[in-house]
Amino acid sequence: MKAGLVGLALAAAFSAPALAQTGTVDRLYVMDCGHNAATDQSRWSPGVNVGKPIDLSDNCYLIRHGSDWLLWDTGYPDAIAEKPITGPVGTATRAKTLAAQLVEVGVKPADIKYVAVSHHHGDHIGNVDMFSDSTLLMQKAEFDFAFAPDTKPPFKAERPIRKLEGDLDVFGDGSVTIISTPGHTPGHQSLLVRLPKIGWLILSGDAVHFKDNWDNKRVASMNTSADQTQASYKKLEALLADKGAVVDQPRQAAEPGAEALAAVLRLAPPRRGAGAMAKGTRRSSVRRCARWPTASGSRWRFRCRSSRGSPRQ
Ligand SMILES: [Zn+2]
Repeated sequence: MKAGLVGLALAAAFSAPALAQTGTVDRLYVMDCGHNAATDQSRWSPGVNVGKPIDLSDNCYLIRHGSDWLLWDTGYPDAIAEKPITGPVGTATRAKTLAAQLVEVGVKPADIKYVAVSHHHGDHIGNVDMFSDSTLLMQKAEFDFAFAPDTKPPFKAERPIRKLEGDLDVFGDGSVTIISTPGHTPGHQSLLVRLPKIGWLILSGDAVHFKDNWDNKRVASMNTSADQTQASYKKLEALLADKGAVVDQPRQAAEPGAEALAAVLRLAPPRRGAGAMAKGTRRSSVRRCARWPTASGSRWRFRCRSSRGSPRQ
């Protein structure tokens, strides 16, 4: 079953001496790519919080690197903005289309050089066909899994696509690296990004869904391989350590220009009201968020306010 899920993001500190030659991206936009009011969070944490509902967010990330644009994940289909869908997992909604958020940034789909997807689940590939000219970066194992015989194709297979077999330094300067992290699906991948003011950030897709799952190294029930999931946890941990990682970076995330706060803080310990979205962000598609612990403390809710001032969660 393909769930509407939250991708976590891991923040890592600079490791200046070892990474002196590494470039940075210019900017990262966090886009609202949907929500799912899920009815039972134990789907992602077997045996824990059984029967408890959970509100799942779904982000996409638009990255500018010089004159190039890369979109990481495409979220739920834009059509859900007009017509929410209720399925076995919960009710999927979209407050705003991806297309509208791109217009706010001033980017056309044809401007986007690369679209990279963490995996082929519907809340991540819902708008891939909007970017028919972009090169899709996807693991070969994921493509083969998604387009297996007797499987409904998740998007049009006839398109520019680069099928990967492992990690990829996308721009050749170390600023954006696709990291193979299978387990949730056979070809799941994460994205390591270096931002000019925040530093290193890992956009981990559905490699792990909740902080509590990360802390306890739990495996979501729908994952295709527990062994691969655990190996990917270790790979991400090693990557964080290699970068001199400090996972909890609330102060760093509050620095001006820290556009990715909503992502950065997701692995930080819950602390009421800590953090605020980037100062100086002007795009309404980039939300200002503060985090709030849930009653169970197993994850956070983000109270977000767009730059136009409409609060939402
Ligand atoms: Zn998934």
